[in-house]
Amino acid sequence: MSLEKADALVVKSVEYSESSLILNVFTREMGKVRGLAKGARRLKNPFETSLDLLASIRLSFIRKNSDALDLFTEAKLRRRFRPTSQNLRGLYAGYYVAETLDFATVDYVPAPDLWTLTDATLERFQFRGNVAARLAYFEAGLLNSMGEFPSVRHCVDCGEELPLERVSNLERRVFFDASSGGIVCSRCRATKRHFGLTQTTIGALKVFDVSLEGAEKTLQTARTLENWRRAREEETTGLSSIDKSDRETQTRLALEALDDETLVPYESFPRGARVAYRELVEKYICQVLRRRPRSLDWLPFALSRSKTTVETEAR
Ligand SMILES: [Zn+2]
Repeated sequence: MSLEKADALVVKSVEYSESSLILNVFTREMGKVRGLAKGARRLKNPFETSLDLLASIRLSFIRKNSDALDLFTEAKLRRRFRPTSQNLRGLYAGYYVAETLDFATVDYVPAPDLWTLTDATLERFQFRGNVAARLAYFEAGLLNSMGEFPSVRHCVDCGEELPLERVSNLERRVFFDASSGGIVCSRCRATKRHFGLTQTTIGALKVFDVSLEGAEKTLQTARTLENWRRAREEETTGLSSIDKSDRETQTRLALEALDDETLVPYESFPRGARVAYRELVEKYICQVLRRRPRSLDWLPFALSRSKTTVETEAR
């Protein structure tokens, strides 16, 4: 047994006995951790009611050596996940993120980049627009972290290249085998058996492709943000509250500008390509996870066209 501390996101919560919870959390330092939070459902408890789904917390726990559940002893809230009623899209997309993470992550196998990307994604779901773009970047980062990012430029059988940049017709159909993890050229399609064969479009493959770039940009922005916040905390210790709030506003504006740039790769595609991408990625993620997340039922609502996306498309 050892005492551990970790930054964690709550990805699953189940009531246990009258007063406790069993939780799956995804930690920055140690990957997935499952544990028992004794007394968490009591009014007074050591978790400060910080164990809601998708809360970002600083967790203390006792790691058990046997198969027994770890024991969560204390939690401090870093950020609650509570999108406003105007942003229900972010809420439903958040449920999908929680469920896929719970399925995809492995006990005590760290994935720090995926953690940072997820934490940044949830923060943006909550406070900022374009849920669809941020979700696509999360999906790319998740698949990449699992070593399952699909082959969108080379046939999975013979390796023949599909020169994605040079094909301008986004509607052109391409064969994709979800069980082999990528595109299949017409020759291999005719000569070999494929068990997860489906059709997609060049547009969908391109969205997949740029989403990986978007995930990388989101990560860089998140790291910059983290450093600025840390520096700001140190700097502002001696300042008056007016200077402090002034500086905060400046920092927030600078970050917003920085963050909006991360959306460019996704937003450059027309609606048809994005719709084809959703169809493809959902099929593929179900294949990779070997099950269908229940939260997929709500995603169409989360991604339905909001006023902001209509405006973006009109640009
Ligand atoms: Zn081939």
